[in-house]
Amino acid sequence: MTDDIHRCPLCSVPFKLEDVCADDITEGTCHAECLEGSPVVDLETGDEIPDGKISTYLYREVMEPRIFDESGKGAGFELTHEALVAALTIPPPQTHVALLDPHAQGLLAAQNNVIDGLMAENDRLRKMLAGCDWYWPEDDTSSEACADGPWQIAENCDVKPGDVFGYSRGGIVETRYYGFLDPAEDADSDDEFEADEPTREAAEAKIAAELQRRAALATTEGSDNG
Ligand SMILES: [Zn+2]
Repeated sequence: MTDDIHRCPLCSVPFKLEDVCADDITEGTCHAECLEGSPVVDLETGDEIPDGKISTYLYREVMEPRIFDESGKGAGFELTHEALVAALTIPPPQTHVALLDPHAQGLLAAQNNVIDGLMAENDRLRKMLAGCDWYWPEDDTSSEACADGPWQIAENCDVKPGDVFGYSRGGIVETRYYGFLDPAEDADSDDEFEADEPTREAAEAKIAAELQRRAALATTEGSDNG
């Protein structure tokens, strides 16, 4: 037999769960009925047991997997295919956020804020690194030694084939906007006034505000004097 159906090797009839079976020493599980009249032997010694009684069992006792219900008791074979699938299927997830209490929801929102911040920072750093596309010999980061890539350093420094050298990569880490004014007359020190801002608009606005402040100061002083 080449199919998957388990049959009695003696009569070739498929086993049913309620069949009474016995073991044949060479054929394995057979119908007890089919083995009737065969000599019964001691499995340890192989010796025939005169008037020996064949030991029998129900086919279901050995050939079907045991299925247990939640109580731990065997549910036997009454479980239908559908019940078995239901027992083995993980129920679809509930909407987890809806199940969170307000405190947990607050924690989750805070976590998401942190993640958003980190992602923005990561994005900023990635752009910064992309702008670092200049190269120097490891021990000379002067502007004269700056090159477009390690191959150019090898050329400039006359590196011999087979030699290994270190090189450093660098470049623009940040672009800011800078402007200055002569020290204000009312300043405590004689340092120049400086604007150093992340955007051109901010730097220009800071310079403009300082010029306006100085102009107002001059007018006030002028009227005081006049
Ligand atoms: Zn049989």
